Amino acid sequence: MNLLSVIVPCYNEEENVPLFYEEFIKNQSFFDGRGMEFEIIYVDDGSKDRTKEEIRKLHEQDGRVRMVSFSRNFGKEAGLLAGFEAAGGDYIVAMDVDLQDPPSLLPEMFSYIDEGYDSVATRRVTRKGEPPVRSFFARCFYKLMRRISRTEIVDGARDYRLMTRQVVDAILSMKEYNRFTKGIYGWVGFDTKWIEFENVERRKGETKWSFWKLLLYSLDGIMAFSTVPLSIAAFVGILFCVIAFAALIFIIIRTLIWGDPVGGWPSLVCIITLVAGVQLFCIGIIGQYLAKAYMEVKDRPAYIVKEEL
Ligand code: UDP
Ligand code: MG
Repeated sequence: MNLLSVIVPCYNEEENVPLFYEEFIKNQSFFDGRGMEFEIIYVDDGSKDRTKEEIRKLHEQDGRVRMVSFSRNFGKEAGLLAGFEAAGGDYIVAMDVDLQDPPSLLPEMFSYIDEGYDSVATRRVTRKGEPPVRSFFARCFYKLMRRISRTEIVDGARDYRLMTRQVVDAILSMKEYNRFTKGIYGWVGFDTKWIEFENVERRKGETKWSFWKLLLYSLDGIMAFSTVPLSIAAFVGILFCVIAFAALIFIIIRTLIWGDPVGGWPSLVCIITLVAGVQLFCIGIIGQYLAKAYMEVKDRPAYIVKEEL
């Protein structure tokens, strides 16, 4: 028999946990038709509300519901990783618990797996219900990523993806600590079918991503899948050397022709502050990469499990 593992990271989602189960179970007849079993692995990411209790309740009702519970909040990326590691299925799908990744798409997704695709990815084509500023910056991020990274990262791509065991094993072979799953999906490759859907608003509760958190997350993504910012630092350095050299020649010639009247200190101050700023900026970029490398070298686990059901 085939087994499908459903990975559902949850952080403070007490209301959505049972709703997700109800919605997912609507596919039961589809699974029966295929002769397929499933397991739902809720990954409790250190929730402070009753999320764990809700999952435990479901587990008692239905043995196909499992739980991996973290010792604290480690973030969604760690949740996905823990789910992939715990999954025993021949097929694995990652979904948000807030039903923004509609379970009703699964039959269509499986039809493409049957056609021979290794993974079926989803992207939302609208961002209805999202603050316009957030949509604007999200678009900018994807545009930038397309330019500076060789890994394909699609605009509007969700983490919602159905994959074969082989793809998930490839994902698990990537041991990095700074995980940016959208990039990892693209990096491992395989034949991927993209399906599109209209944005669905989250069922209950509020988004866990503030603008600031998203901004930091996007920087993580850039640093995990591109080293172009480092080249920019080097390029700016070269540019300033060229400018300085030209200025030097200009000053020598000017002094030879008109002598050397003292003055011009305001311009000197401007130049010094500008150059110092650029230097700090470039060192900052390098520092960011160094910090990431530092975290990788420490080789800490991405998450700590407190309890499993
Ligand atoms: N999530 C998580 N850990 C976190 C933040 C979020 O496991 O630290 C989960 C959350 O419960 C949800 C999914 O990640 O299932 C997506 O989060 P959310 O809906 O808040 O993000 P959005 O859809 O607004 O991007
Ligand atoms: Mg959501």
